[in-house]
Amino acid sequence: LQQFPYQQVLVLGLARSGEAAAQLLYDSHIPFKINDITPFEENKIAQHFESLGVEVITGRHPLFVLEGVDLVVKNPGIPYKHELVNEAVKRDITVVTEVELAYYLVDGPIVAITGSNGKTTTTTLVHELLRAGNLNPLIAGNIGKVATQVVREQSNGQPVVMELSSFQLKAVEQFKPDIAVLLNITEAHLDYHETMEDYVQSKLRITENQTDDDLLIYNHDDSVLTKSIQTSHAKSFPFSVSGSYKEGIYVDNGMIYNQGEFIIDTKDISLPGDHNLENVLSSIVVAMEFNIPNETIIRVLKSFTGVKHRLQFVEQVYGRKIYNDSKATNISATIKAINAFKEPIVLMVGGLDRGNEFDELIQNFRNVKYCVAYGQSAKKIQEACERQHYNALSMVENVEQATIKAYENSHSGDVLLFSPACASWDQFKSFEERGDMFLELVHKL
Ligand code: ADP
Repeated sequence: LQQFPYQQVLVLGLARSGEAAAQLLYDSHIPFKINDITPFEENKIAQHFESLGVEVITGRHPLFVLEGVDLVVKNPGIPYKHELVNEAVKRDITVVTEVELAYYLVDGPIVAITGSNGKTTTTTLVHELLRAGNLNPLIAGNIGKVATQVVREQSNGQPVVMELSSFQLKAVEQFKPDIAVLLNITEAHLDYHETMEDYVQSKLRITENQTDDDLLIYNHDDSVLTKSIQTSHAKSFPFSVSGSYKEGIYVDNGMIYNQGEFIIDTKDISLPGDHNLENVLSSIVVAMEFNIPNETIIRVLKSFTGVKHRLQFVEQVYGRKIYNDSKATNISATIKAINAFKEPIVLMVGGLDRGNEFDELIQNFRNVKYCVAYGQSAKKIQEACERQHYNALSMVENVEQATIKAYENSHSGDVLLFSPACASWDQFKSFEERGDMFLELVHKL
């Protein structure tokens, strides 16, 4: 690690990110110890590091683990109000996440992407664009490896595209991306951050250490963002999808322009839905910053159909366009998906019952010509349909029956949309597993 200023590190919380951080420290011959809550007998990662001679303390978080430590690398999942983290802060020990560690080792340009929504999509699209420009980029984030792991494998200064959550950003010290993207800020995750102010401040740390050699791409339509970035020292570049702002990169009458220059008609972009335009505009700016030619950008935008499980185009079956939006685990995500289409929709919804009422969803059923409800929430959905006088509904038990039922009630020209509006845990381990199941069923149609 270049100029690594710490003597003794504590890796707090293993899992994926802690393991990668520990491995990086080990490879770099930096002294560290590990503290993880899972008892030793069940803790394969802790056992591995102990066999390498690393001190591991498992099963609890005693305060003595902080002795001699000048840096804590905290798993993003461990809250700041955790007793040990509090104590570290009290003792003036620096607390960071593994992203900060990665920063010390990285040797190519960093593109860092954050926001309340669209991080994974934008990170993937930027990665695709840089790939199409033959830059051999690396990707770190939700759908790939964690940053420290990626950086360990980096070979020749290629760009690293990082998806960063506010949990990761809250604890950075020196982290400084060459290009930062701030997509949007909505009131989410307030349970973790306690206040909106804290949440916004965490996101803004993405630009905190940037200088005027660096670029900050931000959403000009987001008033909270536009106001808060005024303290940034980076060159700022706005994007706007509202149609009323015409600086930076913007959408005007369905056309995308960059500083007045026409780039592409939004009709030619494969990613469905207006919400994706924020992701598209910011990605174009990053690509241009790497001098990727317009023809290449346009070609990628025409062919990129989205990230798996996020309003992902699956295939066309006898004239029906099928989309997998298994990531839609709440009602507002499904409303966005519905609004992304002009065609008649046959919708599949259902899953874990969290006590939600579905009336707002049904009120957005303008072009939903048929709805199939499945799983634990099916009854609740049916009740909401009754209240809203919506009759084109079937109730079935599971995703398999839902897919068949939806297909039977669709025609050529329809969109078949799997956007459950509920968490998956009534019948699946994760939204990924649920989406994979749907993909399999579609291929059998
Ligand atoms: P994240 O990684 O921030 O969770 P994703 O790219 O995985 O975001 O998208 C998750 C869901 O969020 C999508 O299915 C879509 O419903 C919604 N979404 C994506 N991009 C945006 C955006 N720019 N603004 C609002 N909602 C979005």
